[in-house]
Amino acid sequence: MTNPTTPLLPEMPEIWQQTLNWQPTAQQQAQFQRLYELILEGNRQLNLTRITEPHEFWEKHLWDSLRGIAPQMRFISSLQTGASVIDIGTGAGFPGIPVGIAVPNCTVTLLDSTRKKITFIEKILTELALTNTNTLMGRAEEIGQQSQHRQSYDIALIRAVGTVSVCAEYALPLLNQGGLAIIYRGNCTEDEITTLQTTVKQLGGVVESIEQFLTPISTSIRHCLYLRKTATTPANFPRAVGVPTQKPL
Ligand code: SAM
Repeated sequence: MTNPTTPLLPEMPEIWQQTLNWQPTAQQQAQFQRLYELILEGNRQLNLTRITEPHEFWEKHLWDSLRGIAPQMRFISSLQTGASVIDIGTGAGFPGIPVGIAVPNCTVTLLDSTRKKITFIEKILTELALTNTNTLMGRAEEIGQQSQHRQSYDIALIRAVGTVSVCAEYALPLLNQGGLAIIYRGNCTEDEITTLQTTVKQLGGVVESIEQFLTPISTSIRHCLYLRKTATTPANFPRAVGVPTQKPL
């Protein structure tokens, strides 16, 4: 049931086409609109996001979430059985929910350590009838050591959860060999990239590419860092809860 008092999100078909070579169907646009409404409603009780204006929500939550997987979108859409994707520290569901909407044949797991966020997201998934997307409550440090999750995902997404080294330590243990971690960043310094190269090697991966781009409305700088898992991650990673942030690699 849509709420007639919620502002309409912009559709932006030309921008989707030019930047991602993709456009939402009418059903996907309706799911984006319902997601927006539910997040505005949820914001009254939970501190979910400060991004509430429709153009800003479109750019910073919808477009930004999908821009990170743009190079992979064709790839994951074409996999017959569907790629398995995990969004680590999903918060209100970003980037994982837009990915689940845009790529229906992939399976998306939304991981967060906060119960109230997971409960809220479960309500969203039911309302959107998003059957390819599920939730997981826990800390990335613990989930990454559990056999049912370790080395189990093709793609790990992680946005606004920590420094690039912390993100790498959370993400790489969860990936299958050959899998890809995508770290979404605003700005990213040369020093961070140099440190990351050493960190990623310790975790059994390589920094495959780094993309810098501008967002299409506010022209803000963004970076996406693509880390490929090339070897088994040593068993001691991820380290115990809190250690990756207290003693970054
Ligand atoms: N990814 C979302 C986004 O970009 O809008 C949310 C970012 S929010 C700033 C960070 C989220 O990561 C919070 O919801 C927090 O509970 C979660 N988080 C932080 N550390 C975590 C950990 N070690 N394991 C799982 N979730 C974590």
